[in-house]
Order: sequence, then C-alpha cells, then structure tokens
Amino acid sequence: MSEEEKKKKLREYNTLWKYENRERIKASRTPEAKARHKVTAKLWKESNKEHIKEYNAGYGKRLRTEDPERYKRYYTTQNAKRYARYPEVRLAAIVAYGGECACCGEDEPKFLAFDHKNGGGNKERKKASYGGMSFLESLLKTKREDIRILCHNCNLARGFYGQCPHELKDNE
Ligand SMILES: [Zn+2]
Ligand SMILES: [Zn+2]
Repeated sequence: MSEEEKKKKLREYNTLWKYENRERIKASRTPEAKARHKVTAKLWKESNKEHIKEYNAGYGKRLRTEDPERYKRYYTTQNAKRYARYPEVRLAAIVAYGGECACCGEDEPKFLAFDHKNGGGNKERKKASYGGMSFLESLLKTKREDIRILCHNCNLARGFYGQCPHELKDNE
C-alpha cells in the first residue's frame, strides 16, 4: 500500500470512528473541556505559526494529487467564497480609479469598464482574465497609471471610430 493510500484509509477510519462514537464525543464536550481545549489550541497555534503557514499554503496542491474528489469540492467552495466578493471588489476598484468615465463622466458602475490607455489590453487579456477577480485585485494592490475607467459607449466609440464623439465636440 502506498503512503497516499495509507493516509486515505486512515482518514476513512477516522471518519467512521467519529461517527460510531458520536454520542460519546458529544458527552465529553463539557464546557470545562472546551475551555481547556481552547487554551491548548491557542498555545499550539502560537508555537507552530510557521508550520501552519507552510501547511496551509500547500494544502490545495497536496489535495489535488492525494484526493482529487475532495480537491474538487474544496476548489469549488474556495472559488465560490472568492467570487462572492466580486461585486464589492469591482466597485472598490472603480472608486480607486476615479469612479466615473474619464471621457463623459458617466458614473453608473454597470456602464463602466477598465481601459488600457495605450491599448495592449489583448496581451493582458490572454494572461489573466480581463475584468476577472485577479485583475481587479491587482488594480487595487498597485495603482496603475496606464489604466483608466471608460463607460461602454466611450470605449466602443474609440474602437469603432478611433475617437469618441465627445472628444470631437470638445475640439469644435
Ligand atoms: Zn463615457
Ligand atoms: Zn466619450
């Protein structure tokens, strides 16, 4: 039996044991025992900070090879948790970059998008999903001079006509 199979077996036994002894476990969880456990758990955490950090960082990777089924479930919940924050993060990024269309001043977030001042959006779009979570997070982390906010109208007009009608009006 390989190491991985052994670990998996152990986990299964552990789950089974917990299930079979659930009443006993429940009875042993007195308030005093809980308080005691809290103290020892805290002490252990404090003295194993580095170890915990390392363990957590590699958790997803390990799970992927050791238990693909469980990894799938883990990945789905982690992703759901992350994407639940999407509207909030997007709004924060919009506010951080001026909160309105740099051309016409439109400020309805649903009409707004991030625009690369010098073009080159395609390259970035290939690397990370444009407007995706990682992109928004990176915008918040470091303020970028080459990114501005445009509304969809002003953005598309630039693509179609090379210039936004708003700009032409200003030049008249
Ligand atoms: Zn606009
Ligand atoms: Zn415009």
